[in-house]
Amino acid sequence: MSGALDNRVALVTGAASGIGLAISRRFLDEGARVIAVDMQGSPLERELPKTDALRSVYADVTAIESLAEIVGAAEPWGGIDILVNNAGICLPGSIFDQSDESWTRTFDVNVTAPFRLSRAVAPMMRDKKWGRIINLGSIMSDFGGPSLCAYGASKHAIAGLTKSLAVDLGPYGITANYLQPSAIWTGMSRGFMDDPVFRDYWEGKAPVGYIGEPADVAGPALFLASDESRFVNGMGWRICGGAMARF
Ligand code: NAD
Repeated sequence: MSGALDNRVALVTGAASGIGLAISRRFLDEGARVIAVDMQGSPLERELPKTDALRSVYADVTAIESLAEIVGAAEPWGGIDILVNNAGICLPGSIFDQSDESWTRTFDVNVTAPFRLSRAVAPMMRDKKWGRIINLGSIMSDFGGPSLCAYGASKHAIAGLTKSLAVDLGPYGITANYLQPSAIWTGMSRGFMDDPVFRDYWEGKAPVGYIGEPADVAGPALFLASDESRFVNGMGWRICGGAMARF
């Protein structure tokens, strides 16, 4: 799919690490111009290639005052064609110990920011009569997990938001879908992966026999961002090496 994103402008949040970094690199390789957003400024500068096709925005996606700067960064390039709502956090907590603060922060980052960014870019995409919104769900968009009260609820919410976007925006040539990775090697999962029980569980559960890399999610994101996926809308796509196919 070389050059699959020529002449497209993509906004990727959480671009300094893990899945967002892999998606940003892959989109650049495929000819897109990328607005890379993250609240960690230095990794953003360090990890992404130096190219005129990249603009970095150092911002917290939950800060409503940053929205104009984030979306405005694409103005010289004619606005945003592809939005990847990838920035996310996982603050573990069971029903016995999840605090109000961690619940609220989880929803602010994982759900409210994607909602606001989608609302900000939708009119641009409607004018272009073309657009792609790709949200990061999780297999926790379908299932529950231990001490994942806020995270699991937020990933179910992103599934609901995506389906509503798909219905509202489909008539304008805009699709919205969500990716559902299982455990992937990233900064977010590092703490969990340090536990051999967790690591062995996911290695054993996936018929492919290994835990996924961020690039394994970037490939499906590329497909959803491309023209090839125009009839795929409102869907969740499990990226799990078959783990969730196994009983
Ligand atoms: P990561 O921690 O490696 O990267 C997330 C990036 O988002 C970081 O660079 C962080 O600075 C940024 N970020 C967090 N909050 C932000 C905010 N408020 N504003 C701006 N940037 C912010 O995590 P990852 O594993 O690459 O996760 C990316 C997405 O994939 C998340 O939505 C996550 O829920 C989802 N996901 C990850 C896994 C996994 O196993 N790693 C599995 C399923 C889903």
